[in-house]
Amino acid sequence: QSQEFSQVRIDYHGALLALQEHGTRMVCTGKMHTDRICRFDYLCYCTEAEEFVFFHSNASVMLPNLGPRRFQPALLDLSSVEDHNTQYFNFLELPAAALKFMPKPVFVPDVALILNRFNPDNLMHIFHDDLLPIYYTMQQYSDLDDEARLVFMEGWGEGAHFDLYRLLSSKQPLLKEQLKTFGKLMCFTKSYVGLSKMTTWYQYGFVQPQGPKANILISGNEIRQFASFLMERLNITQEEGDDYIVVFKRTTNRLILNEAELLLALAQEFQMRTVTVSLEEQSFDSIIQIISGATMLVSMHGAQMITSMFLPRGAAVVELFPYAINPEQYTPYKTLASLPGMDLQYVAWRNTMEENTVTYPDRPWDQGGIVHLEKEEQERILASKEVPRHLCCRNPEWLFRIYQDTTVDIASFLEVLRETLKKPNLKKAKVASTVHPGRVREPKCQTSVQATNEAKLSVSWQIPWNLKYLKVKEVKYEVWIQEQGENTYMPYILPHQNYTFSENIKPFTTYLVWVRCIFNKNLLGPFADVLICKT
Ligand code: UDP
Repeated sequence: QSQEFSQVRIDYHGALLALQEHGTRMVCTGKMHTDRICRFDYLCYCTEAEEFVFFHSNASVMLPNLGPRRFQPALLDLSSVEDHNTQYFNFLELPAAALKFMPKPVFVPDVALILNRFNPDNLMHIFHDDLLPIYYTMQQYSDLDDEARLVFMEGWGEGAHFDLYRLLSSKQPLLKEQLKTFGKLMCFTKSYVGLSKMTTWYQYGFVQPQGPKANILISGNEIRQFASFLMERLNITQEEGDDYIVVFKRTTNRLILNEAELLLALAQEFQMRTVTVSLEEQSFDSIIQIISGATMLVSMHGAQMITSMFLPRGAAVVELFPYAINPEQYTPYKTLASLPGMDLQYVAWRNTMEENTVTYPDRPWDQGGIVHLEKEEQERILASKEVPRHLCCRNPEWLFRIYQDTTVDIASFLEVLRETLKKPNLKKAKVASTVHPGRVREPKCQTSVQATNEAKLSVSWQIPWNLKYLKVKEVKYEVWIQEQGENTYMPYILPHQNYTFSENIKPFTTYLVWVRCIFNKNLLGPFADVLICKT
C-alpha cells in the first residue's frame, strides 16, 4: 500500500521544509465541539501512539484557540452522532523542532476527510451516520472532490458494505489499521476533520429515548439527490414497468413467519406482483434496482428499511413491528418517509396478538436473550405488554421484544393498509413546489372614524415580487391586527390585495398590522414591515 503515495505529486523535500517552517495550521467552523469541522494544513498522525499531532512553529495557526477548553470535552465530534464520548477528536502538540528527532514523515498528498464511521455493520447507521454526512460535507468544501481521500479513524474493519463508501470518491478509503503500513509518522498535506450533522434526522437515545432530532434540517430533496448520486455511481437506471410490491425480509432473526401468506394477501389486495428481497439473497445493487421501481415496500422494522430512500415518490412504506413494541417510539424510517418532499406514504403495523409471536429467551443478550437476568426480571419482561421507554442500547426488554419472530395477522394488517393508504396516490405523486412567497410589497393602511364607537381600517398591498414569475394554484394573504399594548392579535386569511376591517376596530386607537403571502395553503412567506395605523 505504501506504493500508493510513492508517485507523490508533491515534492518530498519541499513538504518537509514547509512542515518544519510553518508547522500545522488549523482553521475551524462552529462554536461548539458538536458543530465543528476543522481544516488543517500539515496535520500529522503518529501511528505508534495512535495520536494526531499539531506541530507548533512561528507560522502555525490554531483557530479556535481554546486553550485547555479543547479538552472540555473535545475539539470536535469525529462522527455525525452528537457528543458521543467515544467519538471525540483531539491532537497532541509538539514544537516543529521535535521533527528532527522523529521518524521521517510520510506525506499524504490527497485532500483528506478524516472521520469516524459510527456503526459500519448496520445499514441504517451506514447511510444515516456516514454516507449522507460524508456526501454533504464533501459538497460543503470544494476541494473535497472526487479525488478526496476518506480516512476512517473509528478503528473497525471494512464492515459489511464497504463498497458503498468507495462510491463517494475515486480513491480507496483508508482505515485506521492501514495507516501503520505507511510508516510511523504520517502528515496530511491538506485535511478536513469532522462531519456535518446537517443531514441527520434521528437520535438514537443516548441521553433521552430515541426519536427524531429536535431540529431537522434536511428535506426529501437532499435525500433524493444523494440517492440519485448513489444510483448513478451504481449504474442503476429506473426502468418503466408494471407496479409491484417489495417485501424486504430478514433471514436470520426478526422473521415474518407467514411470509407466503402475506405475499398472497398483498397480491390479492392490490392486484400487483409481489417480490421478496433480502440482504442475504441479493446483491445490494440489485435490491436498490428493485426498490427504485416499487410501489410499496413492506418490511419488519430494521436497518434494511433505510433503502426506502430509493423508493419512487408516492410509494408506500409499510413497517411491521413485533409484539409489545410501540411503533411511535421507534421512528427512524417513519421520520425519513415523512420528511417534506420525500413524498412517501408511511404505515406502521404492530403485532398485538401474543399467540402470534415467537420469543428467544435463550439467545445471547445482544440477540435479545434474557435467561442471564434474575428470575423476577425475566418474569416481569414476559408479562409486560409493551416495552416502556428506555435509553439506548442494551435494554434487555427492548432487545428481547425486537428480536421476536412474528406471524402477521393478515386481517388486521390489511385493515391498517386500507385505512391509511391513499390508493390513487400510489407512485403517481407529482413533485410539489417548494417555492416560498416573497414579502408583500408597498403595504399601506388608511383609517377613518365613523362615529364615537365606529371606525374603519383599510389595508392594501402589492403581490410579492417573485409571484409574477410563478404559476401558483392558490395565492392567499394573511393579515394580523394587534391593538397596540395588547398581547393578542386577530388573524385573517384573505383572497385579495386589500380589505377594509370595521368589526372590532375602535376609534382613536393604534393598531399594528402584519401582512404576509401564502402559496398553496402551507408555503408561508415572510411578514412585511409592520404597519402602524391610527384610527
Ligand atoms: N440483517 C439482515 N438480515 C437479518 C438480520 C440483520 O440483513 O436477518 C442486517 C440488518 O439489515 C443490519 C444488520 O444486519 O444492517 C444488523 O442488524 P441488527 O438486527 O443488529 O440491527 P437493526 O436491523 O435492528 O438496526
